[in-house]
Amino acid sequence: MRVAQIFINQLNINIDNPYDYYIPTEMEPLDVGSRVVIPFGIKNKSIDGLVVKITETSEYKRLKNIEGIINHYPKLSPWQIQMCYWMRQSYHCLFMEAVNCYIPSSLKFTKVKTKDGSQYNLNNSEQKIKYYMLSGKYIQKEDYIKDLRANAIKQRQILECLGDTPRSIDEVREQTNCTSDTLKTLIDKGLIQEWSKINIRNPYKKKEFNYPENHLNTYQQESVDAFVKAEEPTTFLLHGVTGSGKTEVFLRLMEETIKNGKGCLYLVPEISLTSQVIQRIMGRFKQDIGIIHSHLNAGERIDQWNNIKSKNYNIVLGARSAIFAPMDNIGLIIIDEEHENTYKSSQRPRYNTITVAKKLQEIHGCHIILGSATPSMDSYYHAIKQDISLLELPERVNHIPMPKVEIVDMKHELYAGNRTVLSRALYKGIEKNIKNKEQTILFLNKRGYSSFVFCRNCGFVVKCTNCEVSMTYHQSSREMLCHYCGHKTMVPSKCPKCGSDKIKHTGSGTQKLEIQLQKHFPDAVILRMDTDSMRKKGAYDQVIQKFTDGEADILLGTQMVTKGFDFKNVTLVGVILADSTLNIPDFKASERTFQLITQVAGRAGRGDKLGEVIVQTYEPEHYSIALSQSHDYKGFYEKEISYRKMMNYPPFSDIIFIGFTNENEDVVSKDCEKYHKELLSVLQEGKLDELVKELYQPTLSPIKRINNKYRWYFIIKTIHLELYNDIIYNLSLKKEILDIDSTKIIDINPNTIL
Ligand code: ADP
Ligand code: ZN
Ligand code: ZN
Repeated sequence: MRVAQIFINQLNINIDNPYDYYIPTEMEPLDVGSRVVIPFGIKNKSIDGLVVKITETSEYKRLKNIEGIINHYPKLSPWQIQMCYWMRQSYHCLFMEAVNCYIPSSLKFTKVKTKDGSQYNLNNSEQKIKYYMLSGKYIQKEDYIKDLRANAIKQRQILECLGDTPRSIDEVREQTNCTSDTLKTLIDKGLIQEWSKINIRNPYKKKEFNYPENHLNTYQQESVDAFVKAEEPTTFLLHGVTGSGKTEVFLRLMEETIKNGKGCLYLVPEISLTSQVIQRIMGRFKQDIGIIHSHLNAGERIDQWNNIKSKNYNIVLGARSAIFAPMDNIGLIIIDEEHENTYKSSQRPRYNTITVAKKLQEIHGCHIILGSATPSMDSYYHAIKQDISLLELPERVNHIPMPKVEIVDMKHELYAGNRTVLSRALYKGIEKNIKNKEQTILFLNKRGYSSFVFCRNCGFVVKCTNCEVSMTYHQSSREMLCHYCGHKTMVPSKCPKCGSDKIKHTGSGTQKLEIQLQKHFPDAVILRMDTDSMRKKGAYDQVIQKFTDGEADILLGTQMVTKGFDFKNVTLVGVILADSTLNIPDFKASERTFQLITQVAGRAGRGDKLGEVIVQTYEPEHYSIALSQSHDYKGFYEKEISYRKMMNYPPFSDIIFIGFTNENEDVVSKDCEKYHKELLSVLQEGKLDELVKELYQPTLSPIKRINNKYRWYFIIKTIHLELYNDIIYNLSLKKEILDIDSTKIIDINPNTIL
């Protein structure tokens, strides 16, 4: 009998390795990637697992037999298994956590017969519609039919209409006019499988969109030509100013890719952007596309998965997790707004989408195109070094001018007697816009009816004494609260820095600003877009549609309003407080600030009227604010890259964050130190002096306690990432490390070290 290597479907580091089982002959041919039921442990409990390799022999004696094949669906392809191994190694997750990225958790099976006739259920809580497919007993459909008696016409018809992706009972009935009894007979014969999922519907299917081709301008044409000429799998960085027509370039590259019989993955940083891109893609290609994002329900997710897997879609659009779409013939990966930090997962597995894309490129030989008006320091650095290929769109389409940016120093507003959060210039601008029936976007970096407390005389921000984060004012309790550690305090009556009494909770949340604006402009229609107001399914689409149709004057919101949108009638953009991202203790704070201002400014003046941007700030001299006034990306890059180089921050190094959390303050510090010591001794034993130098001391996290858990961490700033990954992986299996009680967090190049 042949031997299958099987990962047990349990999230447990102690069994995070494949186990050998015999494949009973009647289950042959069994494929790599299949899901099986196996007896596990001393009690031989039936449990499910994933076959990752098939061999002729095993180095172990007395193997157990596989009990049953759950299905040959959903089967992972060999490349996906390869990716899972790579994820485990690169992001220090469990193998099964990586597998779960590739299979929607809602993909639930029912009624799997095990050897002794008992039923093995894989959690089927959401049964509504029955689905059927061939059981996987044979490879050829003829073999199934051979099992039937000659007069079993209905059964034969059913088998003929089924394949190895599920079809709903309605579809099967429509085609065969069969009864449930006939289906049951086939299930009993082991020829077909039945499973259930909740009712699904594709919200975009029936709509008619139209997005005709734009005649390419010279820059766009050059970019498309460079792509067509590329013979090797290539990574491109498309650096195009806001409104330069990046999407048009993407659509042309997709067309090329599809012409060559390959599929495209199109990633956007946030769900709010999907509907605009869906309309453009469907409007151009006139076909259904796969859509993956977090607002899909379980059933929709499964449906998408099925359709992509069975090659019904050659375009898949989605947020971060769409990088795990089960597309077997990827030809092109588009990462739009590639600088956005939503592309980095801050939950296990803590992957970086661009890095995953590069691994996919190695396997599939596909092209990658990263697009942005404000590329990440990392991507631009590699483009300058010519590791990746730089394409540039330096002008807006149709010679539309870049918007005029005015920087307002809010300190002067106060001197002039204006105590509100909106500068006089911004008030005037909004008023004029409402009168002219033109639209305004206002961007504010905080949500909720709360704000941080700061001095309007000197700009001093009240921060938590335990943490390097600003305290948040809460209207209801009239106190300041630290959102990380829960520390509470009263609002000081005088500024601790300059002694002024102009210290107030005057920064304002989106909700509060909405109320203020409504008071000031009673006739204006205002839409708000932030995480709070966008919880309902379809909320994004509604707001965006309304604003596009000109039914509102002002769109007010958090980060969500800053990127990607192409509203033609927006002529004014206001940034309420540009410094809010600067005050974060993070080496990326300046980069983030420059990106946000440039991006939101880019929403202005995209039609035939000139756009204007008003940026309110207390630090008008800061280079990330000053340089955004002249849309000077390269100037900003030069300044920022020299700082990164001096500090040896990425892209000159990689940062490995190793953190520990525990309810007990002593335990967590000891665990962190213990890990650090073990790591150090491995490095010293290996005489890896270069690596020792890159290791920093354990420290208390700046946000000392979150949710009652204390936090310690240390970082490694390294130019030997792969070597370190090996060492950390091997270390995680050592008994001393397995014994550690605290929760361990390993994060490679985290968005922030907090
Ligand atoms: P970006 O993503 O670079 O900010 P978009 O892709 O949203 O810009 O394009 C901005 C607008 O310009 C869109 O309305 C698009 O239809 C239009 N456009 C794109 N290419 C051209 C072109 N070559 N000529 C005219 N209009 C174009
Ligand atoms: Zn705190
Ligand atoms: Zn002050």
